[in-house]
Amino acid sequence: MKRKVLLIYTGGTIGMEKNYETGALMPFNFSNIFSKIPEMKLLECEVSVHSFEKPLDSSDLGPAEWKQIANYIGKNYGSYDGFLILHGTDTMSYTASALSFMLKGLRKPVILTGSQLPIGDLRTDAKENLLTSLYYASLYENEEAVVQEVAVYFEYKLLRGNRTLKYSAEYFDAYQSPNYPILGQSGVHLNIEKDFLYRSAADVSFSVDPHISQEVLFWRIFPGMTLDYFTEIPKMKVLILQVFGSGTIFSSEKTEKVLRKIRENGAEIVVVTQCISGGITFGKYENSDIFNRIGAISGKDMTAESAITKAMHLLDNANYEGTFAHHFSQNLRGEFSE
Ligand code: ASP
Repeated sequence: MKRKVLLIYTGGTIGMEKNYETGALMPFNFSNIFSKIPEMKLLECEVSVHSFEKPLDSSDLGPAEWKQIANYIGKNYGSYDGFLILHGTDTMSYTASALSFMLKGLRKPVILTGSQLPIGDLRTDAKENLLTSLYYASLYENEEAVVQEVAVYFEYKLLRGNRTLKYSAEYFDAYQSPNYPILGQSGVHLNIEKDFLYRSAADVSFSVDPHISQEVLFWRIFPGMTLDYFTEIPKMKVLILQVFGSGTIFSSEKTEKVLRKIRENGAEIVVVTQCISGGITFGKYENSDIFNRIGAISGKDMTAESAITKAMHLLDNANYEGTFAHHFSQNLRGEFSE
């Protein structure tokens, strides 16, 4: 039986071609994708294409489009076996993370991919990314989808979406998930690491919760930074602080005073690390103990993208009874290591 995949094209380099006379990149009509990659017809799956009316550079893609994609998947969930989202690479990790929280009880693959070079370029990486993503998006065993989560496929690697970050603007190998193993790898054989795949709890059925709040602020600290700005920001509900190493911050009296003031004003403080790999351990050093004292929330080894979109999803979300701190500390979709 041919599996059915819904391909959603949002924009980005993958959908562009080069005008070899002018050298300029231009979007091409994505419904013609089959003429660009005739090999798609050889795949053992049936692909339907839904293209954004206006393809977007992924820096223009945000909450409105995340909701649009999540709802579109929700609407078509019963009619397709898998979903493939073609996306610009710049913010793909944000979209993948946001979707992982919006899509609950997922039992089908939702794969995101893009490319560093346009599909019409002679040396393009788009073709491999697209074809292998379609393979993973339609991979079933014993009538069950093998991948049942939001994943990113890029340059021979399948990664958990909410663990990814774009780490190179240059190399084809642009994505990493430094704190979680690779879910699958494409070489001579297409491998899948079954032990690392996410599975929703058996009693949770599929639903879409597109809730996203934009009252989340993210700040990276640096030596010598003045903290005064923080107390001037009105309506701050969640401040995600990206701090040094395993959770340290300069230990001045001012730091304690300002962070306490933020908490007294009712804002939550989530702490994530500036390091690419590893995570937060409050109290490991004296200079991180302050976060215990003020009741901050540890972002553990979550990526910044994941912590931001998780906070956006949970803040003021009526579907989550109880405190923000409680829900933020739960592992909702395998976004941090236990
Ligand atoms: N600026 C582009 C985007 O993110 C880059 C890409 O597609 O890779 O939409």
